[in-house]
Amino acid sequence: MTETIKTDVLIVGAGPCGLFAVFELGLLDVKAHLVDILDKVGGQCAELYPEKPIYDIPGVPMITGHGLTEALMEQIKPFNPTFHLNEMIETVEKIGDPEFRVTTNAGTVFECKVLVVAAGGGSFQPKRPPVPGVEAYEGKSVHYAVRKMEDFRGKDILIVGGGDSALDWTLNLNPIAKSMTLVHRRDDFRGAPHSVEQMRQLVASGKLDLKIGQITELQGDNGQLSGATVKLNDNTVSQIKCDTMLPFFGLTMKLGPVANWGLHLENNLIPVDTGTFETNVPGIFAIGDINTYPGKLKLILSGFHEGALMAQKAVKYVYPDKRVVFQYTTSSTNLQKKLGVN
Ligand SMILES: Cc1cc2nc3c(=O)[nH]c(=O)nc-3n(C[C@H](O)[C@H](O)[C@H](O)COP(=O)(O)OP(=O)(O)OC[C@H]3O[C@@H](n4cnc5c(N)ncnc54)[C@H](O)[C@@H]3O)c2cc1C
Repeated sequence: MTETIKTDVLIVGAGPCGLFAVFELGLLDVKAHLVDILDKVGGQCAELYPEKPIYDIPGVPMITGHGLTEALMEQIKPFNPTFHLNEMIETVEKIGDPEFRVTTNAGTVFECKVLVVAAGGGSFQPKRPPVPGVEAYEGKSVHYAVRKMEDFRGKDILIVGGGDSALDWTLNLNPIAKSMTLVHRRDDFRGAPHSVEQMRQLVASGKLDLKIGQITELQGDNGQLSGATVKLNDNTVSQIKCDTMLPFFGLTMKLGPVANWGLHLENNLIPVDTGTFETNVPGIFAIGDINTYPGKLKLILSGFHEGALMAQKAVKYVYPDKRVVFQYTTSSTNLQKKLGVN
């Protein structure tokens, strides 16, 4: 049987708001574990716009999505949070007042006094390409992510898309592929200019076949792809030999299991009390993009504020008998000790 992990607080989602919540809880001596479906921390900042600049983080004139994630990780280091990546929180069961038993799809079991839902827009899911019958090949020869590059060695690979993911995987997998074709609906790529240039060099050197058009049909048996038909933009049809297809059509966000945890929902968002960011279930809080209240703005700075107020109420569940005194990090030697700066 799996051992149960006991923690003061379990945070669902390691996006910017989940990460900053660790800091606010840590200042009050509250320990946190975080779980995220993704293989990395940073939520939307890391997954959707790592290289894009953000201009509205207070006191930071410009920082990229990746830069903000790195800075938050540095800021919460003194509190030593434990991360469980590549896992999705599936079930939440109330076992005390408050106390929760929470399980992930990987079978990890947590028991916590407080649950903080910082799940953003929910789980990221790849968009399916508009190709009839593609479902039949998914997981076997059609993949929406590259988890292990070695799995693609010696394959006849068809990559579909024109953004950064399509280009990055074209460049990274090209040296180990047996053959490679890139299909995009127009001869104009949204990816980084440097990647576009490198991709064109592969075409010029005969290592990559570039086709401008749309996949109309897949051929194969029992989930194993053997070929694809492309309708080219000059209205001719081309046949591609491939045993693997990697479509990169972007990601959508789906609420996922959060809907089954007994929380009130309004348009797939969790209503909260704006003094504490607690939900309708005492001990379960919701911060960041996942919550709703009058005037809510889906901004990172709103989620930071929400995390600070959440921590003030959460600490009362973790240490019911402790008197919490409000302190500034500038002047409190006690807080500075916790931060390791004094
Ligand atoms: C292109 C773009 C540009 C943006 N620019 C700005 C900007 O300039 N300024 C600004 O303030 N905001 C900006 N935003 C919005 C900002 O990114 C969001 O407000 C912020 O990411 C919300 O943070 P979060 O922590 O609430 O959620 P998210 O960043 O969405 O993170 C939530 C995390 O929860 C995880 N998760 C969900 N469900 C589960 C589950 N069941 N189990 C485990 N993990 C789960 C997800 O995998 C995800 O990693 C931008 C957004 C986009 C898409």
